[in-house]
Amino acid sequence: MTTKTTPFSKDDLIKIITRFPTPFHIYDEKAIVENARRFKKAFSWNKGFKEYFAVKATPNPFLIKILHKEGFGSDCSSLTELLLSEKCGIVGDEIMFSSNDTPAEEYVKAMELGATINLDDISHISFLEHLTGGLPELISFRYNPGKLRDGNFIIGNPEESKYGFTREQIFEGFKIIREKGVKRFGLHTFVASNELDPKFFIETADMLFELAIELKREIGIRLEFVNLSGGIGIPYQPDQKAVDLELVGKGIKKLYNSKIVDTQLDPLKIFMECGRMITGPYGYLVSKVLHKKYIYRNYIGLDACMANLMRPGVYGAYHHITVMGKENEAHNQVYDVTGSLCENNDKFAINRSLPKTDPGDLVVIHDTGAHGHSMGFNYNGKLRSSELLLRENREVIEIRRAETVEDYFATLNFEELRKFKP
Ligand SMILES: *Cc1c(COP(=O)(O)O)cnc(C)c1O
Repeated sequence: MTTKTTPFSKDDLIKIITRFPTPFHIYDEKAIVENARRFKKAFSWNKGFKEYFAVKATPNPFLIKILHKEGFGSDCSSLTELLLSEKCGIVGDEIMFSSNDTPAEEYVKAMELGATINLDDISHISFLEHLTGGLPELISFRYNPGKLRDGNFIIGNPEESKYGFTREQIFEGFKIIREKGVKRFGLHTFVASNELDPKFFIETADMLFELAIELKREIGIRLEFVNLSGGIGIPYQPDQKAVDLELVGKGIKKLYNSKIVDTQLDPLKIFMECGRMITGPYGYLVSKVLHKKYIYRNYIGLDACMANLMRPGVYGAYHHITVMGKENEAHNQVYDVTGSLCENNDKFAINRSLPKTDPGDLVVIHDTGAHGHSMGFNYNGKLRSSELLLRENREVIEIRRAETVEDYFATLNFEELRKFKP
C-alpha cells in the first residue's frame, strides 16, 4: 500500500469544522474497539492475560473507559495518571504502576489505590517500605538486560538506558523482598519502542521465561506474571507492515508450552502495557492550510504546529499526510509542511511529495492517536488543540476542549502575590 485512508470524507470534515474548528485530533472508536478485541484474542490462550493501556499515550477518559470496557486496565507512571485512572473507575490490580525516578507521593497514591507496583530500582525497595510502613503483598521488578539485548532508536540500547534492575540485582532484589514478607512476584521489561519485527516480542518473552526458570531454580522464587510491557510499533509509513499479533501470540504460546509448562511454572500470567499500537493508527490530526510560500524550498504552513504533534520535530518521525479531496491527484509537488513555531524543526514533513496544495485545504496527519496530543506543550504560547471522538454511530463528540488563552494565563501572576525573603 502506498497510501492511507481516513474514516471520514472531506465532506464529513467540512461539516465537522463548522462545529469544531481546526486543528484537532479525532479518534475512530470503531477501529479502536476492533483492534482491542483482536489484540486480546491473540493472547486469549493465556488464562491470566491482561493488557494495561499505557495512559501516557492518550490520556483521555473516553478512550481509557472504552478500553476498560474491553477488559484493559491502565499502566500509569505519574501521580496525575494514577488520579486519572481512578477517576475513570480503574483501581486496584487493574492499575500497573510502572514508573521510574519515582517521587514519594506517587508511591503513596499507588499503594492507596492498591495498584500493582513495578519497581524500577533495587533502592526503591527500602524507599517504598519506609514511605508506606511496609511492602505490598505483590511486587514486580523492571529488568534491564544490559548487553544481553539490543534496543532500538527511540528507547536506546538497554545498557545506556536509565531503566530497570541489572540481572544480578533482580536475583538479589527478589531475595530481599521475600525476606521482608512479600508473597507474590512479577517481572517486567521494556527493551524497544515502536518495534515492528514480531520476532522481537517473542524473543523478549523468551528472555523473561528463561529468567523465570532461573529464578525458580536458583532462589526458589515462583513468578505470578511476566509483563512484556509496550513497544509494539505501528506502520507510520504506508508501505510498512503492522505487527502480526496472531503470529506474536502463537510464537509466545509455543515457548510457553515448551518452557513454562514443562518446568511446572504454569500458570504464569502474561501482561502487556501497550500504548502506541492500541490507539496510534486510529487518531488523525486535522489541520487547515494557512499559507504557502516559495523560497529556496516550497512550504505549506498549517494552523497546527509541533505543540500538537512533536514526533516529527523530535525524532524526525514520518507521519503520512493526506490533502483531503486531492487523494487521487498526482503527487507532483514537493513541500516542507510546517507549523508556526519560531523553531525550524517545527515541520510535519520535509521534502514530501504531495498534490498541489493551497491555503484553505484540509490536511490530515495520520497515526496521531498515541504520543500525539499527549506530548503537546505550550512553547511560543501555542495552545493545545481539542480532541474529538468519532463514535460508532458516526456522531462526533468533543472529548477535550481546546486550550484557551485563559488556561495559559491561569498559572501566571500579573502582580506580586506570594512573597518570601529567605
Ligand atoms: C511508554 C511506556 C509504555 C507504552 O509504550 P508504547 O510504545 O506506547 O506501547 C509501556 N510501559 C512503560 C513503562 C512505558 O514507559
